[in-house]
Amino acid sequence: MNLEAYRADAEEFVSSLDREYYLHYAGLRDEFDIEPIYERHAELFSRDSVLRLREEGTPPLLEFAVHGLIGRATKAEQAELARREASLEIELDGEALPYRQAAVVQVNERDPDRRAAIEEARLEAAARELDPLLREMLERSHGLTGELGWRSMREMCEELSGIDLGALERQTSAFLADTEDSYEEVVSEPLERELGFGFERLRRSDFGFFFRAPTLDVAFAEDRLLPSLAETLSGLALDPPGVIMDTELRPKKTPRAFCSPVRVPDEVYLVITRRGGRDDFETLLHEAGHAQHFAHMEATLPMEHRYLGDNSITESFAFLFQHLSADPAWLEARLAVTDSEAIERQARAAKLVFLRRYAAKLSYELELHSAPASLDPLREVYGRRLSEALHVDWPSASWLSDVDSFFYAAAYIRAWALETHVRRLLQTRFGERWFDEREAGDFLKSLWREGQSMRGDELLAELTGEELDFGVLMDEVLTS
Ligand SMILES: [Zn+2]
Repeated sequence: MNLEAYRADAEEFVSSLDREYYLHYAGLRDEFDIEPIYERHAELFSRDSVLRLREEGTPPLLEFAVHGLIGRATKAEQAELARREASLEIELDGEALPYRQAAVVQVNERDPDRRAAIEEARLEAAARELDPLLREMLERSHGLTGELGWRSMREMCEELSGIDLGALERQTSAFLADTEDSYEEVVSEPLERELGFGFERLRRSDFGFFFRAPTLDVAFAEDRLLPSLAETLSGLALDPPGVIMDTELRPKKTPRAFCSPVRVPDEVYLVITRRGGRDDFETLLHEAGHAQHFAHMEATLPMEHRYLGDNSITESFAFLFQHLSADPAWLEARLAVTDSEAIERQARAAKLVFLRRYAAKLSYELELHSAPASLDPLREVYGRRLSEALHVDWPSASWLSDVDSFFYAAAYIRAWALETHVRRLLQTRFGERWFDEREAGDFLKSLWREGQSMRGDELLAELTGEELDFGVLMDEVLTS
C-alpha cells in the first residue's frame, strides 16, 4: 500500500469536510454537502483499504478508515436525521416551536414547569421521528463491526485507540462511589441559588438552566469577551499566524463558537458568536484552546498526528483554557472580579454533575457496545445508571440519542484528568498567574508542536512520570 498517497488523500478529505463545516456553520453558505466529499474519497474507506492498513500496522490511519467505512455506510440515515431534526416541530401551549430551537428556549426558561413541558415534548417528538433512524444506524454499525472481524464495537474501539476502556471504567466507577456522599452537598447550594430549589424538586429538565447560571452573568460583560482572550494570548506570547478569527455577525451563523482546523497548522478558524453572559466566555476560551493547539503543530508531522489520534489531548488544552473562566486569578486579572466565590462554587458543582454523568454514560455505553443479545433492555440500563449517578429521575427516552460515536465520551473523561495535571504543572512552575508568563506559553508550545503523536497517558508519563487516572478529579470537585 502506498501510505504517502493514502495520507495525502486523507488530509484532503478531512480538510474538505472541515471547510464545508466552517462555511455552513459560519453562515457563509446554506448548503452542507458532505456526501459528495465522501464519494470523491470513497477509496479511503473501502474494505480493501481497511485490510491493508491493518497489515501495515498504522493505528490512527486504520482507526480513521474504519470510522469512515461505518460513517459512509450510515450516511443516508445521518442526512435524513439532520433533515428531520431541522424540520421537526414541537407544540407548546398550542404553538409550534422548531425542535432545535426548543433546546435553547428550555435552557433560558425561568419557569421549571415550562422547562419540563418543553423537554417532554422534545423527547416525545424525538422518540417518534428520530429514534427509528438512530436505532437502525446503531444496529448497522454493530453489524459492520462484526463483518470486519471484531466481536463487538467495544473490542474494536479498544484495539484501534489503544485505550483500555475497562480500566477507565474502573476509575470512573470508583469516582462515582467516592463522590456519592458529597455530591448533593457540593451541588445543592449553587443549585438552589440558580433554581430556587434543591434536589427535592430537581428534574432532568432543570440542568441546562443550572449550567447556564444567569445570576453570574454580571461579571462577564460582553465588551470584555474579545479583549480578555487577546490579553490572555498576549500574556502567554501566543500569536500563531494560522489562527483566523471570524468575529463578524451573520444572520445564519450558528449561535455557538467553534473551531475548524481546515489546514493544520496554517488555516485554523476560530468562529466567534455572542449570546451574552458567562457561557460566551467559557465557549470562546474552550474553542481558543483547540485553535492554539492546532495552529502550533509542526507542519512536517504526518497528517495522522495533526488531524487524528487521541482527542483527549486536544480536549485537554481546550479544557485548560475554558477553566480560566472560573479561575480566581484570571477573573481578577482579566475581568476585575474580586469576589469570585459564587463563580467557583457553581463551576465546581457543574463539573461534578458532568463528571458523574460521563462516568455513568461510559458504563452504559460499554454495555451497549459489548454485543448484547438484544438492545431493548439497554433502555432501562441507561435510565437507571444516569438516575443513580445524578440523584434525579433521569428519563430513559434519550438512550439512543445520548450516545457519542466510537466512545468519544472516553476522550472527554481522559481530557478532564489530563487537564488537571497540566494545569497543576503550570501553576507549580509559573505561579497562579501562569497565563501571564511568556515561559508558560513557551512550555505549552513545546507540547503543542508534537500534535497528537502520543496518547494522553503517554504525554503525561513523559511530562511528570504520573499515570493518567480519573481519581485526580476528586480533589478538583471536593475541595475549595
Ligand atoms: Zn472541545
